[in-house]
Amino acid sequence: MRDGVSASGPITPREALEMVLRTARRAEPEDCPLEDCAGLVCAGDIPAGRDYPFFSFSSMDGYAVRVADLENASADNPVSLPLAGEKRAAAGAPPALPPGFTLRVMTGAAVPAGAEAVVMREQTREGESAITFFGPAVMGANINRAGEEIAAGARLLAAGTVLTPPALGLLATLGHSSVSVYPPPKVGLLTTGDELVAPGVDLLPGQIYDSIAPMLSAALRAAGVAQIEARRCPDDPATLQAAFRDLLAGSDIVLTVGGVSMGDYDHLVQVFESAGVEKIFWKVAQKPGKPLWFGRAGGKLVFGLPGNPASALVCFSLYALSAVRSFIGLRECGPRWLEGTLAQAVENREARVNFMRGDYAPDSVGGYSVQPARGQVSYMLGSFAASRALLEIPSGPLRLEAGARVRFLPHFWGGRL
Ligand code: AMP
Ligand code: MG
Repeated sequence: MRDGVSASGPITPREALEMVLRTARRAEPEDCPLEDCAGLVCAGDIPAGRDYPFFSFSSMDGYAVRVADLENASADNPVSLPLAGEKRAAAGAPPALPPGFTLRVMTGAAVPAGAEAVVMREQTREGESAITFFGPAVMGANINRAGEEIAAGARLLAAGTVLTPPALGLLATLGHSSVSVYPPPKVGLLTTGDELVAPGVDLLPGQIYDSIAPMLSAALRAAGVAQIEARRCPDDPATLQAAFRDLLAGSDIVLTVGGVSMGDYDHLVQVFESAGVEKIFWKVAQKPGKPLWFGRAGGKLVFGLPGNPASALVCFSLYALSAVRSFIGLRECGPRWLEGTLAQAVENREARVNFMRGDYAPDSVGGYSVQPARGQVSYMLGSFAASRALLEIPSGPLRLEAGARVRFLPHFWGGRL
């Protein structure tokens, strides 16, 4: 890693990720309704406000009894107890169970005071006014006891827990309707280029559709980002300047797309500088995605993504997404690489990491076999849409034979199952 925070020449992908993660800040915690919290991180320890279960309840449809009343019951010596009433899972206290009686209880019903066990309905013979039992009752059988899972004051969820569906269910169990989380960043997305038009309209010669805005909006939404402001701009410095400043003012993270290479109409770097964004690095020794620009303005982050669709997706996924994950307080923010064995030889003639699209499958020794896909050119998205993995071929020049070990990201954007 270069010293300080700013680098001028191409840096390695590893250095780039480290710089992004060192620069990215966690959001300030906010209270958030449970329905909007999936995948977010709990900002503080949450104690249980009460015992749970709140009251002892039956885990079966059956009959509440005192153990002593069925002490002598057996198949040969059935015992009948008069029925004192019924309690279903509903508001209201159950009637007490008088000695020598039984009470019909449904699953979830509070067990009556005095009841020591619930006998399953299937194990009885049910009459109009009396129930017959064919064996003794076991103390506590089929009763979930008040407070047996959670004691009031105990930690319900620890700070840093990801709010998975069961974690959200647990909060709701104890009556929480909101929770303190690190809210996702507001993201501004600026696609740039005189050639771009929105999908759906007729094309003039030389025009192409802006495929990256819908792609990255979807990727952001999948990462939990709901507030996305997307704009499309021609390659005009003044227009770009105004749009960028506007997005920067209203966002925590701005992603620009295109215009960061060395072309005559690549104005974005100039736009960043004149808007006071501090450069942290420009250019990463990788393919695709070498021209990536990264900087910060106060606590806000700016990613200048290259315009080729595959390059934009790789840079977004390896770096910008890690910043989003850091923002929402996740502990592991970088991509989670696995290792696999190449199914065929691969050559990398260039002195930069080659991130290849490919597939993976379990091999016969409990690992994975990985295979590059066809269609690795930077403008091609078809191979990403059709394959499941991103392979990391180390910086060359080198040739890896079939059987060599390489890192890969499984489920790269879902892919084909
Ligand atoms: P640039 O980085 O602006 O030089 O763009 C590199 C390549 O990506 C060019 O072929 C552009 O036409 C293409 N490109 C840039 N932005 C987009 C976009 N939003 N959607 C699709 N292609 C794009
Ligand atoms: Mg361009």
